[in-house]
Amino acid sequence: MCSKKKIIFATTNEGKMKEIRMIMEGLDIELLSLKDAGISVDIKEDGKTFEENAVIKARTICELTGEMVLADDSGLEVDYMDKAPGVLSARYLGEETPYHMKNQAILDNLKEAVGQERSARFVCVIAAAFPDGKILTTRGTIEGLIGFEEKGTNGFGYDPLLYVPEYGMTTGEMESELKNQISHRGKALRLMKEKLGYEDFDN
Ligand code: IMP
Repeated sequence: MCSKKKIIFATTNEGKMKEIRMIMEGLDIELLSLKDAGISVDIKEDGKTFEENAVIKARTICELTGEMVLADDSGLEVDYMDKAPGVLSARYLGEETPYHMKNQAILDNLKEAVGQERSARFVCVIAAAFPDGKILTTRGTIEGLIGFEEKGTNGFGYDPLLYVPEYGMTTGEMESELKNQISHRGKALRLMKEKLGYEDFDN
C-alpha cells in the first residue's frame, strides 16, 4: 500500500492551517502543521524580501525533517512609504504595539497623500522546499488604497486600512468568505497548488 506524501506547512497558526487545508484539498497529500509534526523551532526571518523569508522558513524545516515543506511570508506594502512596512509588517513599531496604533501611524504618514498616491497591497509569498534542494515560490497580492480612517472590525492587523475599490470596502469590512476568496494568501496558495499538481511525489 502506498501512503500519502506528507507535506509540512511551517506555521503554528491554526486559522491559517484551516484556510490552507481547504485550498489544498484535492491534492494527494497529507498536510501537517508544525504542531502536528511535533516541531518547535525559532527561525530568524532576516530576509529582505517576502520570497527570501518564505524560503528561509521552508528550507530550515525541510533540512530539519527531511520532508517537503511549505511556508508563507506576508505583509502590507504602502507605496507612499517606499513599500514599508513590508517584510517588517508584524514587527512595525514593535511586535507588541496594538494594530490600532500601527494603523494610525500609517494614516499620519499619508496625511498629504491623495488619490493613487495612497496605493498599497497585501502580499503573500508561498515557498516549497523539497528534500533534494529544489525550491518553488508563488506570490499573490490584493491591490487597494490606504483609506482615510480605520474601517471594519473583521479580519486582523492592517485589514481596517486597505480599501479595495472593486468591492467598495476595506478588507476589514469583508466577510471572511469573501476575503479568503480574494486574499493574497489564497491566490498564492492556489498558484502553489497548481505547481504542485505537476510534481511527482513518489520521488
Ligand atoms: P505573517 O506572514 O503571518 O508573518 O504576517 C505578517 C504580518 O503582515 C501580519 O502580522 C500582519 O501585520 C500583516 N498581514 C499579513 N496578511 C494580512 C492580512 O490579511 N490582513 C492584515 N494584515 C496582514
